[in-house]
Amino acid sequence: AAKEQGRNAFRFFSAELNQEAHERRRLEGNLHRALADEEFFLEYQPQIDLRTGRVFSFEALLRWQHPEDGLIPPDCFIPVAEEMGVIRRLGEWVLLAACRQCRQWQQPGLPPVRVAVNVSGHQFNQPGFIEMVDRVLHETGLNPELLELELTESALMAGEQETIMTLIDLKVRGIHLAIDDFGTGYSSLSYLKHFPIDRLKIDRSFVRDIVKDLDDRAIVEAIIAMAHSLGLRVLAEGVEHEDELELLRERGCDEVQGFYFARPQLPEALGKYLEAP
Ligand code: C2E
Ligand code: MG
Ligand code: MG
Ligand code: MG
Repeated sequence: AAKEQGRNAFRFFSAELNQEAHERRRLEGNLHRALADEEFFLEYQPQIDLRTGRVFSFEALLRWQHPEDGLIPPDCFIPVAEEMGVIRRLGEWVLLAACRQCRQWQQPGLPPVRVAVNVSGHQFNQPGFIEMVDRVLHETGLNPELLELELTESALMAGEQETIMTLIDLKVRGIHLAIDDFGTGYSSLSYLKHFPIDRLKIDRSFVRDIVKDLDDRAIVEAIIAMAHSLGLRVLAEGVEHEDELELLRERGCDEVQGFYFARPQLPEALGKYLEAP
């Protein structure tokens, strides 16, 4: 019976794999068309400075409105776009749209507001990345100091020496740099002292259980302490409840982002965050 079960499980598993492969091929064919047909759009999620209570930045999050399949979340299609090499074009589209939007947010008499853009390692580690960023900044006229790029630890680990050069190139332009999903990636921390980073974004997985799980709480405290002694700012991702916020505030976390404050939203809905305090 066990054998029979195993065989069935295998059959089921391979059917699932087939399904997955099929799904993937379909996605691939669709991605190119989607770019041409403008099926992509961006939502923006506020990032809040806990000291001032102000929204100082918005993270741009990519969405795909598929004509038949509906809304497809980025975790489903970005890995495919990376494998196919479409991520360069897609990434450039995101940067251009986000910088254009940020330019529009600036209002005379109000403090400047930034935009944070996720950058895939595949995109970042390609030759011509800096030139692409320059082109977009030139085309949109956005002050580079209003742009932040979010990179993951694995993106930064891909090409050590060149990575540092690229980061410095971005930094001298005034662009802010953040490490996204901090704590989930590479295990060595020594890179933090070589890389010109401004901010660590503590991964949501640590924030989620911070009230109940003492280990997660200890990790968050350690990240905050380390970041501060290195002169970095710390933002906690995925804050959903008030007790999480209070704990983070007590522990000296600088900034937060999460459903407790605001979900990612269309630009039309962001007006209230852009008004004078
Ligand atoms: P991320 O950059 O770490 O973005 C945070 C994700 O957490 C977003 O999911 C956001 O909607 C979600 N989130 C924010 N606050 C909360 C909360 O309080 N609770 C919960 N449960 N979730 C929260 P999203 O938009 O589905 O994006 C997923 C990932 O896809 C992003 O993770 C990022 O790695 C990637 N991504 C999104 N847009 C882009 C893009 O334009 N380019 C690239 N390369 N990657 C992108
Ligand atoms: Mg991010
Ligand atoms: Mg993240
Ligand atoms: Mg992520």
